[in-house]
Amino acid sequence: MAADTWIIVAGQPGVKNLIEIARGLTGQVRALVVGTEDVADTIAAAGVDEVVWVRPDPDIPLEAYATTVQSVVQDNPGVLIGGRNPAERVLFGAAVATLGAPVFTGVSSVAADGDDVVVKHAAFGGITEQTVVISGPVGLVVDGGGLPEPGIAVAIEEIAAEAMNDVRVVGRSESTDEHADLASAARVIGVGRGLKKEEDLALIEELAQALKAEIGCTRPLAEGLDWLGRDRYIGISGAHIAPKLYLAVGVSGQLQHIDGVRGADLIVSINSDPRAPMTAEADYSLIGDLYKLVPALTSALSGR
Ligand SMILES: Cc1cc2nc3c(=O)[nH]c(=O)nc-3n(C[C@H](O)[C@H](O)[C@H](O)COP(=O)(O)OP(=O)(O)OC[C@H]3O[C@@H](n4cnc5c(N)ncnc54)[C@H](O)[C@@H]3O)c2cc1C
Repeated sequence: MAADTWIIVAGQPGVKNLIEIARGLTGQVRALVVGTEDVADTIAAAGVDEVVWVRPDPDIPLEAYATTVQSVVQDNPGVLIGGRNPAERVLFGAAVATLGAPVFTGVSSVAADGDDVVVKHAAFGGITEQTVVISGPVGLVVDGGGLPEPGIAVAIEEIAAEAMNDVRVVGRSESTDEHADLASAARVIGVGRGLKKEEDLALIEELAQALKAEIGCTRPLAEGLDWLGRDRYIGISGAHIAPKLYLAVGVSGQLQHIDGVRGADLIVSINSDPRAPMTAEADYSLIGDLYKLVPALTSALSGR
């Protein structure tokens, strides 16, 4: 009999992609929610067959409920799907470790073949796509994909929430960074190391405002330079996006980055180097200095 699929939800309900992938498999779609009642209610109306809810103590970090998550999936092993948020990754990791299941990231497609699961995923740093067939439990890490469409709600089964000992929140400070919503954005500007200084991000912000676009980036800008948050970098180890328009500015277009933008309908590149791989990947390329082209585009779009 085909195994059921568990979706691990931690703290936030932006798991549309996870549910869509699970629905493409055979068997029941079960959501294991560690979060507030609002999150559980949203997931219950999101097209799943069953919701198991762990109501966390607000003064205990969600990650501390790993043992509860482990005991739930242990009773019904199958396919586990988790998102990329920090708490989701911890709870998902605990669950797959319990089952001794292999984990795949960079997943581009998942299908059922009888009782087996066939997964296509990026391998060797994105240089190749590999197809694997798994006969037992398996873990898949995918982008959340934003809020699911509301539908008819299923019942929620609340279970006892048992947290690990001795972990309590003793302070909180709000981040001033705006949270990036790259997965559901219709237009994304991806900025790369062609930008010379952090202050020059102002140019990209003005263009993003004129274009009504979200700002994403290459990995070096988020990890290393730390000019933008880690939730903004796109690629094999970052976000996978599928906007109508992806505008790459000063991005060379290495395979690891391109892997995250293949879902875009239209790719436009601004790069001073006509031989940059991004130029070959793009549907349209503007060859030239971004310090001239970006302000010119902003002016044109703003009617200045
Ligand atoms: C295991 C692994 C995983 C990785 N995962 C990711 C990932 O998920 N996402 C990711 O992005 N990277 C990832 N990388 C890094 C990746 O290999 C590249 O190093 C990175 O994407 C390059 O970033 P960049 O395009 O910003 O910089 P660069 O490669 O330095 O490119 C800068 C570009 O800007 C252009 N430029 C310079 N000045 C101007 C100007 N004035 N006007 C216009 N254009 C200009 C240059 O011609 C160049 O093409 C990973 C690497 C490894 C090894």
